[in-house]
Amino acid sequence: MKKVGLPIIISAPSGTGKTTTCKRLKQRLPNLKIATSHTTRKIRKGECEGVDYFFISKEEFESKKNNNDFLEWAKVHTEYYGTSFESLDKHRQNGFDILLELDIQGVNSLRNMDFEGIYIMILPPSIEEMKKRLEIRGTETEEDIESRLKTGKEEIKDYKKYNYVITNFEVEETVESILAIVRAEKSRVTQYIPTSEDIKELLDL
Ligand code: 5GP
Repeated sequence: MKKVGLPIIISAPSGTGKTTTCKRLKQRLPNLKIATSHTTRKIRKGECEGVDYFFISKEEFESKKNNNDFLEWAKVHTEYYGTSFESLDKHRQNGFDILLELDIQGVNSLRNMDFEGIYIMILPPSIEEMKKRLEIRGTETEEDIESRLKTGKEEIKDYKKYNYVITNFEVEETVESILAIVRAEKSRVTQYIPTSEDIKELLDL
């Protein structure tokens, strides 16, 4: 039986601390691979091409979309984001668990195609706190912040689309919760792969 990686889909309204959480999670799970998305948005200070995103033009994005290169894609705020089949499959086929950071539209697309994975939503403690975090980040204009807050509120309403919801009071605690979820999910009977020939034989697998 070949081990296929488990997709972990994480979503959160902007200003919830998802990026920091995912970075910490990656440190705790060194074998976890990231499905690096493509985006048309501008690179932010501190981000790296091919690590945080593949930053491409709208024309390139359109061409990839027409080529059916994306498992899913969405227009988030004013820019386009997409998960390519390539970014996912190269790791998954090798048995690695893989992290997908998506907005709610991406989650909806995957749900509609019965894409198997653990769907986790990270929420801020309050809308007020989310606003504060966006303002402190200082990467968006006032108008962008308002738009992200509006979208964020709609995203929160969709919390039932997920298997798990975690409130991010503090990053380490949130990471611990995700680790606990991943451990539990990987211990599901459907995920079990015998670790030796004798058990395999015993179970007739
Ligand atoms: P940001 O511009 O702040 O990096 O991301 C904005 C939003 O786009 C976040 O909610 C992020 O999770 C989402 N996002 C990033 N990559 C993808 C993707 O490939 N597909 C979808 N649907 N959303 C994405």
